[in-house]
Amino acid sequence: MRVGIDLGGHTITAARVSLDDSGRAVIERSAEIETPPGRGVSDVLGAVAGLVDGLSTGRETGVGLAVPGMLDALRRHAGVMPNFPKEWRRLDIPDALCRALADRGLSLPVRIENDANCYALGEGAAGEAVGLSSYVVFTMGTGIGSGVVVGGKLVTGAHGLAGEGGHVVVGSGAICGCGGIGHAETLAAADGTTKRALAEGLPGDFRDLWAMRGDPAADRVLDVTIDGMARAVATVCHLLDPEAIIIGGGMSRAPGIAPAIKEATMPYLGLPYRETLDLRVSSLGNDAALYGAAQI
Ligand SMILES: [Zn+2]
Repeated sequence: MRVGIDLGGHTITAARVSLDDSGRAVIERSAEIETPPGRGVSDVLGAVAGLVDGLSTGRETGVGLAVPGMLDALRRHAGVMPNFPKEWRRLDIPDALCRALADRGLSLPVRIENDANCYALGEGAAGEAVGLSSYVVFTMGTGIGSGVVVGGKLVTGAHGLAGEGGHVVVGSGAICGCGGIGHAETLAAADGTTKRALAEGLPGDFRDLWAMRGDPAADRVLDVTIDGMARAVATVCHLLDPEAIIIGGGMSRAPGIAPAIKEATMPYLGLPYRETLDLRVSSLGNDAALYGAAQI
C-alpha cells in the first residue's frame, strides 16, 4: 500500500492506494486541500505531509508525488515548474518531502514523477490501459501533457524528458509555453483555443465553445484545435504503434471529442495505421494521476 499525491496549482489531492486480488489499483481513502497561497516550498510540503499523515495507517511502504513540471533524469529536481515559485527549481524535492514527513514522525521513501506520466501510469493501473503494455496518454487541458508506456514501462528518455506528445511539431508558427515553435499544444490546448476564440468574439470557455459546434465561426476555431490534436496523435502512432491512445484532462470530457479527433487523425495516418488506431477517453478523470503517483 502506498500514498499517491497529485500536486496541482489549485488543489493537492492525496490517496491511500492498494492493489486488489487482480492487481488493479484501488483508492482506499483520499483527501483534498487547496494549494497554499503563494505555492511556496515549505507551505506546500508541510501541507502535503499533513495530508499523508491524515491518511497513514502505519502500513504504507512509500509516497509518490506527481509534480507539474519537467523533471531531471534522476527524478529529484524540476528544471521547469510553471505556476510555482522559482525556489522549487533548486530543490531536491523527494529529499525535502522526506524531511517534511519526518517532522511528523513519518519515515517513508518518496519518489516523484511528472504529473502527465503519473496520469499514464494511473490509466495502466486502474483505467483504460489496464492490461495494455504499450500505450500513450494525452492530457488535454490548459496545456497538453502526455505519458508514454512501452513494454509495460514508462518511457523517460536519456535526460528525463521523453513522452512530451503535446510538444511534437505540427507546423504552426506560434511559440509554445516551453519555448519551442509550432508545438501541438499551441493549437490543441484550452489556452490556445481560448485565445483564438476570444479573437473571433466567441466564448473563451472551452465547454461553452464546444457546445456551439455547428456554428461556422465556432467550428473554424475548434477545427484548428482538433486538427492540432490529430497531428500529434498521428505522430505518436507512426513513432510507437501503440495498442491504444487515451485522452484525458478537462477537454476530453467534451461530448464527441474523441470521435472528432479520430476522424481528423485518419488522413494523416499511413494506411496500415488507420486499421489499428484505438482512441479511448480516460475513465479515471481527475483521479488518474493520483492512482499513478502511487505506482512510481
Ligand atoms: Zn512546447
